Amino acid sequence: MRLTGKTALVTGSTSGIGLGIAKAFAADGANIIINGFGDADAIEAERKGLEATSGGKAAYDGADLTKPEQIEEMFKRAEKDLGGVDILVNNAGMQFVSPVEDFPVEKWDMIIALNLTAAFHTIRHAVPVMRKKKWGRIIATASAHSLVASPFKSAYVTAKHGLAGLTKTVALEVAEAGITVNCINPGYVWTPLVENQIPDTMKARNMTREQVINDVLLAGQPTKQFVTVEQVAAIASFLTRDEAANITGANISVDGGWTAA
Ligand code: NAD
Repeated sequence: MRLTGKTALVTGSTSGIGLGIAKAFAADGANIIINGFGDADAIEAERKGLEATSGGKAAYDGADLTKPEQIEEMFKRAEKDLGGVDILVNNAGMQFVSPVEDFPVEKWDMIIALNLTAAFHTIRHAVPVMRKKKWGRIIATASAHSLVASPFKSAYVTAKHGLAGLTKTVALEVAEAGITVNCINPGYVWTPLVENQIPDTMKARNMTREQVINDVLLAGQPTKQFVTVEQVAAIASFLTRDEAANITGANISVDGGWTAA
């Protein structure tokens, strides 16, 4: 298969978009490292499924990405067990919804650490190995919020704008090394991350659940459809192809037209 022998690390891939991307890479034959939190039996079942799909190896690494030393250990294990990371997807992320004046300081720190600073650490560990192999793919699951803002999401929007800046900067630094660096910017995708923010948004905006779905989540998405995990994963898969070798430093929107408005 196309990615046989290559290793893909997808952060935050025990659920949602990350798991979808891991499945797409497994279907292309890659060894997979999944990462994130969750029920041990469910994670093991997904790991086995990925191995069965790819015919390669699949490993689970439970590194907490808000802890730089755990990120470093994860990369050491990846090099020892699987020959290093060829494809890195910075996908793990969390959301918190609150007016800025009430935004809990510890939530701000955690969102910046997970959604932005973790990508700096994974990239700095990944690039030397990719340079040696003269090939690499670095992808961030950013968001439409890397380009535009929404009220009450100050930490998330700040982190995602930062991720877009990090992507462009690193793309320039590694442009001649056979490594591409891109952001995929989904609009609203129906995953636990979206489900979990509905109650807080109901509170922050004094709305019903239906109003939040129709008047907030899908209000800015001209197609009036949620993006699917598979649609995002298909773009990630395409970015690993030879045909995508000149797509770098790009912000690729998969947002139903949100950021065109
Ligand atoms: P999700 O909540 O389903 O998945 C988040 C993943 O991150 C899980 O695997 C979780 O275990 C992991 N995670 C959380 N904290 C972690 C930590 N400290 N260390 C390691 N892993 C950790 O969310 P999702 O919707 O699939 O989101 C994935 C990415 O896509 C996020 O970066 C999110 O911002 C982005 N995104 C989502 C949407 C959407 O509408 N769902 C839209 C645009 C961008």
